[in-house]
Amino acid sequence: MTRLWHAISPDECVAALGADTANGLSSDEVVRRLAADGPNQLRGKPPKRFIERFLSQLREPLIYILLGSGVLALLLHEWVDASVIFLVVLINAVVGAVQEARAHSAIAALARQVSALAGVLRGGERLRIESSGLVAGDIVLLEAGDRVPADLRLLKVRDLVVDEAMLTGESLPVAKAAIAVAEDAALVERHCMAYAGTLVLQGTATGLVVATAGRTELGRIAALIDAAPLIATPLTRRLAVFSNVMLWIILALAALTFAVGLLRGESVQDMLMAAVALAVGAIPEGLPAALTITLAIGVGRMARRAAVIRRLPAVETLGSVTVICSDKTGTLTQNRMTVTELLVGGFGYTLHGAGGAEEGEIRPSGAAPTENRALHPLLLAGVLCNDAQMRREDGQLVFSGDPTEWALLLAALRGGLDVDALRARHERLDELPFDARYQYMATLNTGPEGVRLWVKGALERVLAHCRLALDAHGVPVPLDSVAIHAAADEMASRGMRVLAFAYRPGGAAPLMRNSLGDDWVFLGLQGMVDPPRGEAEQAVARCKAAGIRVVMITGDHAATAAGIAGAIGIGAKTPRVMTGRELAALDADALRAVAGEVSVFARVEPEQKLRLVEALQARGDVVAMTGDGVNDAPALRQADIGVAMGRGGTDVAKESSDMVLTDDNFASIEAAVEEGRGVYDNLLKFIVWTLPTNFAEGVIILVAVLAGVTLPITPLQILWINMSTVLLLGLALAFEPIESDVMARPPRPPGEPILTRAMTGRITLAGTLLVIGAFWLFERELAAGRSVEYARTAAVNVFVFGEMAYLLNCRSLHRAWWRVGVFSNPWIWAGIAAMAALQFAFTHSAPMQSAFGSVAIDAASWAEVVLTALVMSAIVGIEKAIGRYVAKRRTTSKGS
Ligand code: ATP
Repeated sequence: MTRLWHAISPDECVAALGADTANGLSSDEVVRRLAADGPNQLRGKPPKRFIERFLSQLREPLIYILLGSGVLALLLHEWVDASVIFLVVLINAVVGAVQEARAHSAIAALARQVSALAGVLRGGERLRIESSGLVAGDIVLLEAGDRVPADLRLLKVRDLVVDEAMLTGESLPVAKAAIAVAEDAALVERHCMAYAGTLVLQGTATGLVVATAGRTELGRIAALIDAAPLIATPLTRRLAVFSNVMLWIILALAALTFAVGLLRGESVQDMLMAAVALAVGAIPEGLPAALTITLAIGVGRMARRAAVIRRLPAVETLGSVTVICSDKTGTLTQNRMTVTELLVGGFGYTLHGAGGAEEGEIRPSGAAPTENRALHPLLLAGVLCNDAQMRREDGQLVFSGDPTEWALLLAALRGGLDVDALRARHERLDELPFDARYQYMATLNTGPEGVRLWVKGALERVLAHCRLALDAHGVPVPLDSVAIHAAADEMASRGMRVLAFAYRPGGAAPLMRNSLGDDWVFLGLQGMVDPPRGEAEQAVARCKAAGIRVVMITGDHAATAAGIAGAIGIGAKTPRVMTGRELAALDADALRAVAGEVSVFARVEPEQKLRLVEALQARGDVVAMTGDGVNDAPALRQADIGVAMGRGGTDVAKESSDMVLTDDNFASIEAAVEEGRGVYDNLLKFIVWTLPTNFAEGVIILVAVLAGVTLPITPLQILWINMSTVLLLGLALAFEPIESDVMARPPRPPGEPILTRAMTGRITLAGTLLVIGAFWLFERELAAGRSVEYARTAAVNVFVFGEMAYLLNCRSLHRAWWRVGVFSNPWIWAGIAAMAALQFAFTHSAPMQSAFGSVAIDAASWAEVVLTALVMSAIVGIEKAIGRYVAKRRTTSKGS
């Protein structure tokens, strides 16, 4: 029976589910409930059945031509041809369906890897667990950015605003409250409930899990949600358009062949078969499957380098990125904060301690007195106005929560404070959580001194409310804001994150941001170091070499930002820094100009990131932007590549992103760009390799019919060539490793056509060489008095061996193939060996001879086949060398 949880009071709900609001469920109880109810996981829509995938492979215009050709061959009683055509369609559809299924499940598995976590109270402790482990009766703690993990009856609510669009279709965010509503209230009106799958945009709340998995409201409609990703990118979509155009060209040429042949007096039967040959030859059947495989391999490679792709087009867009806008904390730095300096009562102190050990010492700097009465309140503020948790495990300290806040707890321990006892003695009455927009946090605590408001945050935000400051005797005196700012700037210029602390006596719950008063007493500063990530500097340098500008956008102080930026090479040596406030004063035109020049933006509010992305895009930049909070979501969506943090990021940010970093590391973005460029390269390599064959097969049939000579290759043989070479040779290109120079090239212009003029030129050249080579050997064998079958076998071999040699040319679009490492892709050699063996069987084994109408050829003919293939490959090699020479001349003449 489903209870009407929304219509009864929180206490009744808690009692009904045997919950405990103070401590949460015990672990035994959780195990019992989990066994009874099962994990909190929605079973997604069952994957498409194989037959559906198979049939969808047949719904391709070019496959229609093949099927039509098969039917035509049947009508003409060409049984072998017809069966082979159908067989090819069948193999192709099976390979396509299998590959698509594999790609889908691989990508879906990656998406699951970024699993959602939920804050929960259990056994008296606040934990973060995987949402799948929740049971009815659990007490869940929601905060801004969370995806609600189960259906919750809200017990305590602070400013909670939830986006329920995915459930109710209502696009306006809904404010929540804990008070029960009428029994017959519609879903949208149940303000005391938070439903699974909806997103917390603002505020915090405590809720009681009342339904999990399929029993949630989302579970009821889950059948409608299809999580399967679409295997499509701009390139594949453009190729689909290209195939439609090709369809008509092929049909027109087939009709022309037929008509010309008839006029020449050939038989209808022969000419229909010639038209069939042309059609099956010109169609690149293997292209869609090869593209899917290449993309799937690329996505897998990226995941191994900590970049999980959420939207497939991102794979391609990555190759065009011109600007990467990155957060500082945790992405460029390690997010391992340690407080090392204090400013208190007007004097400086250094804080010492080894590694993460709690033993430490505070030493006075310069003229600072050893006795300082303001030290204790400063450290106490860091303990009380703090949400981080701390436990001891095997004598080691284990922290959870925000690293900035761990640092403050550790600083207090090192200063000799008993954190647990102090927290127990100062009960928290109310709080205003840290919010990047306001840049401070406040709590209201009781204590021996009475009720006090404790505040910590960005210096300018805190100081704006202070009139007095505690001096070294612990007495409030008038504040010297100039001196404090100077001291903070000096600390920040060394790359430190500086936090300011204050208190105010008295106050009552509930706290409101706009009525906190202006009579705070400044307690001092704590300065913490957060070293840059070791790999960041190198990654920034690699981006520069790849023509990508790196921009730092941080909520931190301008001087801190400049310090870190300088250390890892962002912008100039002493980079120009612009603050959020300066940014706000600029109009769109001015912002566009600034966006192109300034590389460090500090004290930026999340909302301003959106303006920056737009300004960069207006300049023609392709922008990758990182983000972790709820307020980053609009910028992440607007960016060409929104990058969310897998560890520190909120669910909202992840859902708005195209890519999630599992290690939150800037270097992984650079790695993803590199992989993205590599994938696109490999897609192009396959296209440039496969199209000449189709071109040549079409042209050969056309020319033979127009010139009134015997067809050098039969339709059947054409199908043989296409299928066997794509599977054994072409697919090996998907495994080509990334070329060493991908990050030395400029980004690919986003609007660039798939095939540049150079590539079209190469396809035409290679295709023409195949036509000439095959015709030449065919006619030569005929002239030598060999049978048509013999000459055709030689021509087929020219095609296959020509493709083999040309495959090597295609291992790099620009460089000579041996420069990419002769054995760096073993699949190429395995494919070539297998193809050569198969072709030998095609020529010499009796069953294949009877199937394909081939006959054995002698050693001299074999030698001619191999030689022709090598000459073709050499000519393409020369064309590539000329291309390189011209490109080099162009860059040097541009440079001079
Ligand atoms: P980014 O990750 O965008 O590079 P950041 O993490 O350094 O930047 P924010 O988290 O937005 O920036 O913090 C901005 C400022 O807010 C900090 O410089 C600091 O002064 C203050 N601040 C950060 N964390 C807290 C906190 N937990 N409590 C109070 N104030 C904080």
